[in-house]
Amino acid sequence: MSGYLDRMADQGFEEVVLVHDAETGLKAAIAIHSTARGPALGGTRMWIYPNEEAAVDDVMCLARGMSYKSAAAELPLGGGKGVIIGDPRHDKSEALFRAYGRFVDKMNGRFITAADMGTEEKDLDCVRLETDHVVGGSQLGSPSPFTAYGVWKGMKACANEVFGTSNLSGLTVAVQGVGTVGAALCRHLAEEGARLIVTDLDGEKAAKAEDLWNAKVVGHDQIYTQKCDIFAPCAAGGAVNADNVEKLQCKVVAGAANNVLKDDYLGEVLHKHGILYAPDYIINAGGIIFVEYSRQGGKTHDEIRQIINRIEERLTRLFTRAREENLLPQQVADLTAEENLQVKADLSRSG
Ligand code: NAD
Repeated sequence: MSGYLDRMADQGFEEVVLVHDAETGLKAAIAIHSTARGPALGGTRMWIYPNEEAAVDDVMCLARGMSYKSAAAELPLGGGKGVIIGDPRHDKSEALFRAYGRFVDKMNGRFITAADMGTEEKDLDCVRLETDHVVGGSQLGSPSPFTAYGVWKGMKACANEVFGTSNLSGLTVAVQGVGTVGAALCRHLAEEGARLIVTDLDGEKAAKAEDLWNAKVVGHDQIYTQKCDIFAPCAAGGAVNADNVEKLQCKVVAGAANNVLKDDYLGEVLHKHGILYAPDYIINAGGIIFVEYSRQGGKTHDEIRQIINRIEERLTRLFTRAREENLLPQQVADLTAEENLQVKADLSRSG
């Protein structure tokens, strides 16, 4: 492996650790991008990576993404992530997760972990036997409804920017993926009087949306060509890509999925087509806001929703700055996150 220290320096990483436990065969990596704003909180992913470089690349990219998301959301959190190299269907054991937990514990609270792709609550329970630096699970409740709530509020900022009103009633929203977040989003939208078009690989979920909210169900590939006001990707990453960007029939792209744009240049293409893009990590921050305020304790769910409401103001400010400075929304999102990271780093150096 070469070039990682240069990349750490270029991108402001604090620490990247490779982890091996001979007894259990655990192979993992933990990246702490920044603790300038607080402990580095991020999930642990379990995945079959083709090689070690792919695992380290993924953990670094995800850790940096968490720093940006939490900094932009003004949370007292840094960004980190863990990956365990292995097949989540066959390689899990209590011993493996306990070994991982001991490594997390050695980081003395600089890294706090949660579930991510390939890991779930019962795995975290094993990690928790070895360390207190874990959040999530049944005692916390699901962040998904809070993510959906934030996306719904964020859509209002988008509608205000494009249509001159934050009222979504009468608008048509095409939702890709009606899983835990997509379905909760549909409920908010339907209650406000928006018209829904949905798709899901799981036909039962799509049928449920048709029953509950009178959504029009379309095939997976048809969702991109639907004439609609807002396209809401709530499934996998890369929803906007080179194959479909020219076909989109919407005025706004705003959804819960992470990494909506398959490549950064697609933001420019959307802009040229007069389509407003709500940067993913700004609009989908409701879940992490919920996790952090639940971790701190002392706030009711209603109080947490009040904090999530700020996503609407944050996007409104971001779109204004993008217009005034002739920048793309995702460029302003990155600048805002970097400014928020820098201010804290300066404060901690001077304090
Ligand atoms: P989920 O697994 O509950 O739902 C995703 C749904 O999308 C599933 O029903 C799946 O069948 C469907 N799907 C997948 N690929 C599809 C495709 N190509 N076409 C149509 N449907 C497809 O996941 P979720 O928790 O609802 O998360 C949705 C997205 O939001 C993910 O990208 C996730 O990373 C992101 N996100 C979630 C949260 C959260 O709080 N859960 C927070 C931030 C971001």
